[in-house]
Amino acid sequence: MNILVINCGSSSLKYQLLDMDTETIIATGVIERIGATMGSITQKSNPDKWPDAKDTEDILIPDHEAAMRLMVAKLTGEDWGVISSLSEIDALGHRVVQGGEEFSHPVLIDESVIKSIRSYVPLAPLHNPANLTGIEIAMELFPGTPNVAVFDTEFHQTIPQKAFMYPIPMELYTGLKVRKYGFHGTSHKYVTKAAAAHLGKPVEAINLITVHLGNGCSMAAVKNGQCVDTTMGLTPLAGLMMGTRCGDIDPAIHAFLAKNRGLSIREIDALLNKESGLNGICGMNDMRDIHAARENGDTNAQLAFEMFAYRVKTTIGAYLAIIGGADAIVFTAGIGENDEFVRAAACEGLEPLGITLDARKNAIRASGIRSIGVVGSSVSVLIIPTDEELEIAQATVDVVNG
Ligand code: ADP
Repeated sequence: MNILVINCGSSSLKYQLLDMDTETIIATGVIERIGATMGSITQKSNPDKWPDAKDTEDILIPDHEAAMRLMVAKLTGEDWGVISSLSEIDALGHRVVQGGEEFSHPVLIDESVIKSIRSYVPLAPLHNPANLTGIEIAMELFPGTPNVAVFDTEFHQTIPQKAFMYPIPMELYTGLKVRKYGFHGTSHKYVTKAAAAHLGKPVEAINLITVHLGNGCSMAAVKNGQCVDTTMGLTPLAGLMMGTRCGDIDPAIHAFLAKNRGLSIREIDALLNKESGLNGICGMNDMRDIHAARENGDTNAQLAFEMFAYRVKTTIGAYLAIIGGADAIVFTAGIGENDEFVRAAACEGLEPLGITLDARKNAIRASGIRSIGVVGSSVSVLIIPTDEELEIAQATVDVVNG
């Protein structure tokens, strides 16, 4: 079965065509700067065979419909084509950011699902409209081909009410649905299943702390294979310190900034989303640059690094308490998979809790799943490369096959 995975953002479109019989990538692409004066498309065809080969073209992409048409033209065209006709695509899987309390599983998209996704636009005003645009154009371009929605929030729908509620007036939950939803669910779910397989345990019996550290960062506490808490909240701004997002801060800072700096709600929102996190402390948001600066004695870079790891560590402690011990801590995404310094700092001093990193294994650069804890520690430490596209494609196959 060939599955086309679509991740439609506000000004970008990422796509991946997978052959799910062999779990191989046929093509993967990204279209950027949709709606800008000049955009671009980059596609890698058969990346397993030719990992370093890619095609790029600068091209004006006025809107999402043009982006989707361009993707179709490239997948089937003479120059970069990997399939001869759209009929070779059996189903489409769409990443949808916010599924509210309604969707705890992937669903086949119909008019009522579209209506529901639209009703969650106030909860995800940047993401859900773009996701919807992708779905609606796909339904036009691929008539008769099933479309499946896979939600970033669905894995977190098992979080108990005492953990997902905010201690604010009840009416804000009952009336506006203000609560913790959590995001990166597809990634947390993928690594949960992969960790269970790696450790030889059924998913229903696995207890984990999953640590997704990319540009956005989040953690999940997983008990018996189900998510019982996560760090992101109503929005992806909550929880850990991130590249440019602040994570958890005193909520009174909003009022303080309005009063003392005269900032509007919009300005405060931008400041906390785009000018904070690692970037806010040291002016850099790529952990590789931060390490280089630390080596050159940049004290703000050092502080940003320490703050980042400190929050991961305190959350590991909190989640161990919730789960009552864990089979493993799982690091994933750009920083989680690649950054030995962050992993070491986050796990430092946790030996009394059963977490002991093997410094040599932690420093080895490799691909694939690997164990970096000292053999015999009660809590394993794993690196598991995330694969959200594969998870969405697998979910799409499952839905289509009923
Ligand atoms: P996204 O959340 O956008 O999917 P990724 O999971 O790709 O992000 O992670 C991107 C981040 O990973 C970058 O900002 C960078 O800080 C970090 N990163 C990538 N490679 C490395 C590396 N080799 N060492 C340290 N950090 C890395």
